[in-house]
Amino acid sequence: MAGTHLEPMSASTPGVESFRVARAAVLARIAAACERVGRSPDEVTLIAVSKTVDPVRLRDAVAAGLTILAENRVQDGEAKVPEVPGASWQLVGPLQSNKVRRALEVFDAIQSIDSVGLAERIDRLAREVRGAGPDRRYPILLQVNVDNDPSKAGFAPDALAEALEAIGGLDALDVQGLMTIGRFVTEAEAARPTFAALRVLSVRLRDRGAALSADLSMGMSDDFEVAVEEGATIVRVGRALFGERPHGP
Ligand SMILES: *Cc1c(COP(=O)(O)O)cnc(C)c1O
Repeated sequence: MAGTHLEPMSASTPGVESFRVARAAVLARIAAACERVGRSPDEVTLIAVSKTVDPVRLRDAVAAGLTILAENRVQDGEAKVPEVPGASWQLVGPLQSNKVRRALEVFDAIQSIDSVGLAERIDRLAREVRGAGPDRRYPILLQVNVDNDPSKAGFAPDALAEALEAIGGLDALDVQGLMTIGRFVTEAEAARPTFAALRVLSVRLRDRGAALSADLSMGMSDDFEVAVEEGATIVRVGRALFGERPHGP
C-alpha cells in the first residue's frame, strides 16, 4: 500500500505487525468466500469485536487498520473509547433501557435493537445526545432471533414486519439492516440455514416496502465465511483477530 513506509515508527511495533497479519488473514478468507459465490469483497465490512481486549492492544489493532471496533457491554465501551483514538465503535450486545443515553455517548451505531420500545427510546435520546434527526439519522440494526432460540435476544422473525412499521416512523433512526447471532454449532456449515433465513427475511420485508436497508450483520470467528457466502455485509469477528478470550465466549 502506498504510504506505508511513511508511517511513524510507533506504527510498526511487533504488536501492530501481528494485527496486520491477523487482519490480512481474515480479509483474505472473506475475499475467498466472496469469490466462491461471485460477490465483491467491497460489499463486506469487517468489524473487530474487541470485548475483553485491553486498550493498549486495541491501539495497535487500530494502527493495523482495524478501525471499526465493537463491544457487547456499554460499560466496556465507556472505559475503552477515550483510550483508543481513531476508531469508530458499535454496540453488539444487549442494551437495557436505562443505559441508552450512555450507549449513545460512546457508540456510533447500535446493532442489538430487540424491541420497539428500545428503538423509540434511542430515537428520542439520539436527538438529544447526538443531534440526530431526519437529516442526520442514527444508525441501528435490528437483532433477529432467527431460530426462535429461547436463550437468545432479538425479534422473532414473525414480529419483524409489524415492528418495522412502528420503527419506520422514528425519523431520527436509520435502520440499516438486520443482525443475528448464529446458533452455537461445532461445524460452521450448520449455521448456514440461519444466515440464509436472515437474508430471505430481509429481502421479503424490503420487497413489501419496509423501511429497512439491506445490511446483514452475521458471522463470527467460527462461521464468518459461511455467512459471507450467504450474503453477510457485516461480519463481527473477535477471536480470529485477537486470539481466544480469557473467560470463554
Ligand atoms: C463476541 C461476539 C462476537 C465475536 O465472536 P468471536 O467468536 O470472538 O468472533 C460477535 N458478535 C457478538 C454479538 C458477540 O458478542
